[in-house]
Formats: sequence, C-alpha cells, structure tokens
Amino acid sequence: MLGRAITLVESGSPKHRLLARELLSAVAERTKADPVSMRVGITGVPGVGKSTFIESLGMELVEQGHRIAVLAVDPSSSVTGGSILGDKTRMIRLSAHDRAFVRPSPSAGTLGGVASRTRETILLCEAAGYDIVLVETVGVGQSETAVAEMTDCFLALMLPGAGDELQGIKRGLLELADVIAVNKADGETEDAATRAAAEYKGVVRSIASRDDGWEVPVLSCSAVTGVGLREVWNAVAERTTGLRESGELESRRAQQGTRWMRTMLEERIRTLVWEDRRIRSLWERIRARVRAAEMPPSVGVEELEAAIEERWNAHRSH
Ligand code: GDP
Repeated sequence: MLGRAITLVESGSPKHRLLARELLSAVAERTKADPVSMRVGITGVPGVGKSTFIESLGMELVEQGHRIAVLAVDPSSSVTGGSILGDKTRMIRLSAHDRAFVRPSPSAGTLGGVASRTRETILLCEAAGYDIVLVETVGVGQSETAVAEMTDCFLALMLPGAGDELQGIKRGLLELADVIAVNKADGETEDAATRAAAEYKGVVRSIASRDDGWEVPVLSCSAVTGVGLREVWNAVAERTTGLRESGELESRRAQQGTRWMRTMLEERIRTLVWEDRRIRSLWERIRARVRAAEMPPSVGVEELEAAIEERWNAHRSH
C-alpha cells in the first residue's frame, strides 16, 4: 500500500494529483498530532560508503524494533540513469527485512520536483508507521541543502584522507552538517580516518557555532566492521532528542514546510510566466534587440515587467 501511495504522489497526471492531494491531507491530519518520527539526512560523495553504512546501521536499528524507511534524493539519476539506490543489489539485507522500506530516488525531474516528492514520501512513510526515515543524497548541486531542509538532523559521511581533500571540502556542507563521521576507519585506512577526523574537528571549530549552541561532533567509524556506528547514531539521536525536548523540532519542521511551499510557489509562478505565449514571444524579440546592443538589458526588463503586469491585470479583470 505504501509503495502504491508513493507511486500516486509521484505521478504527474492531473487525475492522480487530485487523489494524491486528498491522501496527503488525510495523512497530515493523522500524523501532525504525534510527530514521533526521526528524519535523518545522510550525504557523502559516491564511494564514501553510504549504502554500506545505511545497511549496517539499518539492520541494527530494525533489530532494536525500529521501522526504517530509506529514501533518496539524487539529482544525477535523471542524467546517469540512477546512481543512488538504482542498483537493486544494494542494501540487500535491509531491503528484505520486513521492518524496512527502501525506495529509490524518483528518476525524473528537477531537483525541486524530486525534493518535493521525497518530502511527501516522508509523510507517507511516517503515516505507515516508520519511525526512522533516512534520506540519502550525493553532494551534487543543491541536493544537500534540499535534504537538510526536509530532515531534523543532517549527517555527513567523509572519506579518510587529509590535507588537500580538507582544503577542497565545501564550507557550505560543514555549515549544514549536524554530525560528521569519517568512514572506513579500518585496516589500512584506519590511521588516515583518525587523522582526518581530528582535522575536521579543527575546521568545524573554526566555523561560528550554531545559533542553538549545538556543537557538531566529528567521529570516525567503519561501515564494514561496524566499529563506531553506534556512537555515530547516538550523536544523531542526541541531536534530534534535544530538538524535540526543547520544542524546536516542531518549529523547525513548520518553518521547513512553509519555506518549501514558498519555493514551490515561486517555481510555479515562474513556469506560469514562461508558459505565457505573449510574454515568451516578447522575450524573444527583446532578447534579440539586447543581443544586438540596440536596447540596454535594464530597459528590456522594464518592458517585460510592464507586459507581465498587463497580462496579470487582464486575468484579474475577467
Ligand atoms: P556509496 O556510493 O556512498 O553508497 O558507497 P558504498 O556503500 O557503495 O561503498 C563504496 C565502496 O566502499 C564499497 O566497495 C564498499 O565495500 C566500501 N566501503 C564502504 N564502507 C567501508 C568501510 O567502512 N571500510 C572499508 N574499508 N570499505 C568500505
């Protein structure tokens, strides 16, 4: 049923959209009273060990009695044909477990569209009784921000490797991450992982601390041997429990919801404007003139704005 509900929400057909809207409204009524779930974002470059990590951790959590849903936001999948969870052989044990639900990334559409469907899928999973929702992403484009914007806690998995790699690490990512874990702390890469963790600690400390005083823990772990996984999960749980107890979780989710609505609305408005044939053809004409240096861009903007306003008023007077 959950799989079918998600397919319905992902569908683009107008008939399905109407039904999906009804379903989501009903689900919201049911879940809002009791937000017991934990939404955790997990990011890391391809090869860092995300699926191995989720499989090991997920198996441990389901054994403890949790019900886990694993979703993915993968903006590269529409181009490459699927890099996250595309391969059914990943997370074999977890996928087969009856308290786990593993869903690949919706494979088509813009990041905004994919993120919006994943967001709705989170709600459906929660309504279906999954108390932990893991949302996986690769650090491509804005996907990390999108996932951080739909989760309670954001975990960044890092490769062991120091020096140059540390220089290249995106500052933006460090600002988003609530917990950082250097994976592959085993065998030949164990020392490198420990060193990298120490260096990340220094970098994290140099970034201004969070408004809420949360100090980002930097840990090392091995998704293969399982060493350190519990500590990483404890840090994630500590973060979400803290947010829940201070009441921040609720306000954070509320804010994420309204921000997302605004983003989606702006996307729709843009589409509406660009799909207007008159605006479109005026744009073509003005663009040609600006290209030929017959009109300054600012004047072009003003003419287009006037045209948009005129169309808007015409709509309103109907
Ligand atoms: P993903 O692309 O981030 O999902 O990475 P995968 O989970 O597919 O792992 C990529 C490769 O790294 C695989 O060959 C894994 O076996 C290996 N790997 C993942 N975690 C670890 C780990 O903790 N230690 C070691 N040594 N290898 C790992």
